[in-house]
Amino acid sequence: MADIRLIEIKEDILSDNKNLADEIRDMLRVHNVFMLNLMASPGGGKTSLIVNTIRRMKDTCRIGVIEGDIDSMVDAEKVVQEGIPAVQLKTGGFCHLDATMIKMALDEMDLKNLDLVIIENIGNLVCPAEFDTGAHKNAMILSVPEGDDKPLKYPLIFSVCDILVVNKIDYLGVADFDMSAMKERVITLNPGITIIEASCKTGEGIEKWTHWLADEMNAYQRAVT
Ligand code: MG
Ligand code: ZN
Repeated sequence: MADIRLIEIKEDILSDNKNLADEIRDMLRVHNVFMLNLMASPGGGKTSLIVNTIRRMKDTCRIGVIEGDIDSMVDAEKVVQEGIPAVQLKTGGFCHLDATMIKMALDEMDLKNLDLVIIENIGNLVCPAEFDTGAHKNAMILSVPEGDDKPLKYPLIFSVCDILVVNKIDYLGVADFDMSAMKERVITLNPGITIIEASCKTGEGIEKWTHWLADEMNAYQRAVT
């Protein structure tokens, strides 16, 4: 009988990705650029949160955005309308962003004239959580209409994020959403996570989010290399 050769593709892909992500962090350190990876389901409010963040922070720091989309540029256009440089990654079917894609985007950006890069990952709660993008912090949005059971269904993404923004709290009372049960599920998975309740529509909670982001960015930029 012939030998069977086993190739563990997934493990290799993830370790190569991790090495490149570390190289990206080295490159960002040279320019003292802080990078945030924002993940959520489609329609969770990623672009709205980014636009709100730009409006509140663009006078105090220089922001650039990497937009991941399977096949459109509509979100990048919204960012550019705010006067912020954006790079669109059109993944042509890929359902997540990886370090190779982020490196290509960063190579198109003027890093020496930026303080903060925000990645809008592909709308998906599954595989974006598996790939280190080279970001310093990972953030996610869970919107109230999606339901309080998402931490049970997609535990990995809740485990890898530093902060969870519970968006669309203006839907509380309309949607059947148990906030305290949801938080308990998230904290069980990830005791160190920060959770902020917000609404991009009413503006509630957005300042808490931008304070968190500014604090993280400032801590990174003050740290001795
Ligand atoms: Mg979007
Ligand atoms: Zn994927």
